[in-house]
Amino acid sequence: MDTGTTACPSCASRSSRSLGESSFCEWAENAEVVALREMSGGLFECESCRLVFRSPMPPDEALRAAYAAMPADSWAYEVPGHWGWIRNCIRELAPNKRVLDVGCFRGDFLETLPKDSVRFGIEPNADAGGIASSRGITMLGRDAMDQLPGNEESFGAIVLMDVAEHVRDPAAVFRHLRRYLAPGGVLLVLTGNSEHWLARRSLPFYWYMSFPIHLVYLGSRYMRWLARTERWTIARELRYTTHFRGRKNHAKDLAQGVALMMWKRWLGKSFLAGALRKMPGIARLDAMKSPPLLFSVHDHFGVALVKPRE
Ligand SMILES: [Zn+2]
Repeated sequence: MDTGTTACPSCASRSSRSLGESSFCEWAENAEVVALREMSGGLFECESCRLVFRSPMPPDEALRAAYAAMPADSWAYEVPGHWGWIRNCIRELAPNKRVLDVGCFRGDFLETLPKDSVRFGIEPNADAGGIASSRGITMLGRDAMDQLPGNEESFGAIVLMDVAEHVRDPAAVFRHLRRYLAPGGVLLVLTGNSEHWLARRSLPFYWYMSFPIHLVYLGSRYMRWLARTERWTIARELRYTTHFRGRKNHAKDLAQGVALMMWKRWLGKSFLAGALRKMPGIARLDAMKSPPLLFSVHDHFGVALVKPRE
């Protein structure tokens, strides 16, 4: 166990545990992403705040090049079920109708809000932001850390969907955005769940962290640490999957995930490895350059953080 060498990007504790390194790289056909993988280190878990983080992380310049090389239709998926959970949280918890979506892309989620909502967005992709703007969404900036003068203490809800895993220090981003939340306002964070049992046991080979643009991996213990140290109230929590494709696919995804984990962690290193490699299923597993994308596993979570009223 490596401890005491790698500082946590969120709480600065120096006591972290190594979870190992993986050569898996999703989207490996893209040269900019391969370059990112080469600049990225292994995974660590902070013993203090429980954040899972990459160390070292690739430099900003390389991250920007990788984002720019991604097709503009990335992250475009059919209306997912967890959007309903976000809308319910906004309706039942937000003290006013002003909603800011950080990383709003084309404004697809904001479009699904009731007509009396006042919609604002932040989006780094200029083309997608242009589409959001043409849909009547007021665009306020390009980056989650942008200053938003005139909007202090104004939003009833701020949404961060599939954003927190791309930042170096999620707590710093939440702290920054909190200034723009009205008293009693709600910050809705949706991201991968580092505490899902399959993810926990599979790291560093779990698919979610095979994207080198995912710099950190959050879980409910990290959110509880954050709520305690930064005075948020956790009002609601959700566990979900990004693409539930029925029970059959769910069972298949679980079986594939467990097989890969067992192969990578134990069987592939055991005295049986040579014999097992001759089996077609195992040979395929052994030759994998990127992990199976287990989209139907409930490995994402959402949390509603409420800012105190005084
Ligand atoms: Zn930490």
